[in-house]
Amino acid sequence: MKHVDANTWYPYIQGELDREVMLLLEEHLYRCPDCLETYLSCVEQLSSNLPTPVDPVTLTNSIMEQIEVPTVSLPTKQHPKKPASDRTRMLRNYFIAAAATILLMFTGIFQAIFQQVDDFRHNPSNNVSRVSDQLVEQTIRFLKVAPPKDPNSN
Ligand SMILES: [Zn+2]
Repeated sequence: MKHVDANTWYPYIQGELDREVMLLLEEHLYRCPDCLETYLSCVEQLSSNLPTPVDPVTLTNSIMEQIEVPTVSLPTKQHPKKPASDRTRMLRNYFIAAAATILLMFTGIFQAIFQQVDDFRHNPSNNVSRVSDQLVEQTIRFLKVAPPKDPNSN
């Protein structure tokens, strides 16, 4: 393979070439210090001209997909031709489902707490009297079951 010039490295760096071509270029890059030098200067040139990412969500998603692929590929070795994005999408669906479940659970708990606080706020005397009534009732019941011995009776 002959040396690769900057006109080829630029589209390679930007991922605009066919996968086969990119693999060939990569292979050559690993073995040719001259082309590595050209390549590095192209990278430098491009990175200084690169605009800052406009959409950070897209950038984050693409990074997350790259991170998730190795973990996802482990349990589905029997389907190597299935695109990774499908599995990633499936996993994401599970995560969304789990997150939604947790979110709903917590909202339910908080709603119950807020409801009780609200009840107490609107009817604090009722609640207090209810608690004190119960206390008195229980004390009376206890006294009826086990009346205190009069220390002077014996
Ligand atoms: Zn070369």
